[in-house]
Amino acid sequence: MKRVVQIAGRWPLVTAVLGFACAGAKLHGPPGPADYPRTQPEVTSYRETSSYIDVRKFLDSLRVLGAPLAFGSVGKTSEGRDIPYVVASRPLVSTPAAAKALGRPIVYVQGNIHAGEVEGKEALLALLRDLTFSPAPNVLDSIVLIAVPIYNADGNERFAPQAVNRREQNGPESVGTRANAQNLDLNRDYVKAEAPETRASLAMFNAWDPDVFVDLHTTDGSFHGYALTYSPSLSPAAVFGGVYARDSLLPLLRERVRTRDGFEIFDYGNFISDEPGLVRDTTVHEAWATYDSRPRFGTNYYGIRGRIAILSEAFSHDSLARRIASTRAFVSEILSLVAEKGVAIRSLSARADSLPLAWGRSPDSLQMVAIRSEIVATPRMMDVLKEDLEKTADSSLTQPGVPRGERRTGRVHTVRMPVYDRFISTLDRTPPAAYVVAPQDTGVVRLLRLHGIRVDRSDSAWTARGEGYVIDSIITSPRQFQGHHEIRLMGRWQRGIQSLAPRSFIVSTAQPLGALAVYLLEPESDDGFTTWNLFDRDLKKGGRFPVTRIFDLSRRGRSANRRSSASSAQPQ
Ligand SMILES: [Zn+2]
Repeated sequence: MKRVVQIAGRWPLVTAVLGFACAGAKLHGPPGPADYPRTQPEVTSYRETSSYIDVRKFLDSLRVLGAPLAFGSVGKTSEGRDIPYVVASRPLVSTPAAAKALGRPIVYVQGNIHAGEVEGKEALLALLRDLTFSPAPNVLDSIVLIAVPIYNADGNERFAPQAVNRREQNGPESVGTRANAQNLDLNRDYVKAEAPETRASLAMFNAWDPDVFVDLHTTDGSFHGYALTYSPSLSPAAVFGGVYARDSLLPLLRERVRTRDGFEIFDYGNFISDEPGLVRDTTVHEAWATYDSRPRFGTNYYGIRGRIAILSEAFSHDSLARRIASTRAFVSEILSLVAEKGVAIRSLSARADSLPLAWGRSPDSLQMVAIRSEIVATPRMMDVLKEDLEKTADSSLTQPGVPRGERRTGRVHTVRMPVYDRFISTLDRTPPAAYVVAPQDTGVVRLLRLHGIRVDRSDSAWTARGEGYVIDSIITSPRQFQGHHEIRLMGRWQRGIQSLAPRSFIVSTAQPLGALAVYLLEPESDDGFTTWNLFDRDLKKGGRFPVTRIFDLSRRGRSANRRSSASSAQPQ
């Protein structure tokens, strides 16, 4: 039904945008609301979602109307599409340095990472338009907003019936796919960064260093009674933004969205009767449980970078119009709250950056980094909203996304049940002064730099006090996942004087992303480079892990003009 738009070749962003401009409406006098662009759902009575071209046209219209916005490209998808981003603030800034100089929180909101989950894209476009053209004071006076409405642009263009691409969703009729054009799930790619979209977005994170990252999705199933569910970073390593979002921001957001916007929202989860296995305790028959804490998921990852991250999941059984409305309300309230708490949020970011710097100077300041975790064993008892379904007489479909032979009743009731909404650490590691990576592991070093982690290099052979990891066993997952068989190591650290090869790479943990470096490099991490096969070639039972922990960097051999740093952390 939906037209499939093919875009040939690689377009320079500006010409593409201006090309549409010329084809657009001619203006007579200053633009007014009648000239403002409308999203595809708005012009089709919510029957259709925007194609890539629709998004580009919409953004182009904003530009032609003189909206005070800065337009750019995050990077290119594997099929060569530019991923557009828009910066909105008053006064307008268009570079990371200018944004920093404003001294305000920077909020990065991303739609469409799973391209069948369309309302984030639409809500973000409409919100951008309305905030920008509003003459009254608004959040753009207090924050810098970076909007990325169509992150998985290639997936968006793989339109197919919703019954095929998003079975559990109540429309629209034609939507894109969850995966990108390489069949990678971008929301499992944040550690290994194999997709060009991920590599480009890591470069955006490094350049703009947003204080808050918001990722917009749609739920997959449970018939709960919430218009939207949300989650902070669930990684216990997210000791700054993760804890602050969970304990301070999200409870307040829940209250505001309920009272000001009229939507019930709650911590993300599913009923374990729908998804067995979420909780270990087999004596629990019904509970509400969250998903996963590993940084392959964007919001978990972003928390380990020391920042605030919020996952938004609109209720898949609501209509598209209502999903757009609830997502828009949630994002609006996030922006308002961040604007209000700007000073606290900026100082949280500053503390997250400075804490690892102190690690090198004073061992007392060392903070353990949680590298493995499990869902909490002691849930809280809470009231959760649940909707009743009832059987129909036959197996006809009553609503897209509702199982055949069942219908929704609209009867939502409160059930008191255990709520598992957080993870606890099961393995903590004290950051060493540095990790030393073997000279041949250049792929690992490239990926560390892509994550924004500074890597130095030693010129000569040297020795230092430290630890090497002896591998006792290598557990390879039999299941293929995202093209990988994940690895888990068991072994032990052995302390002693370590001999380091000339040209080995040095990753100091005394840098703003020190905790992330620990998470990615520790051999026993539940979602590090070892997990994703980056060290496979060096792993041998009884052998030594190719990364060494060093306690003291003062004696290392290094040249005056050593290579370093975040400046080389751009996509290759
Ligand atoms: Zn999703």
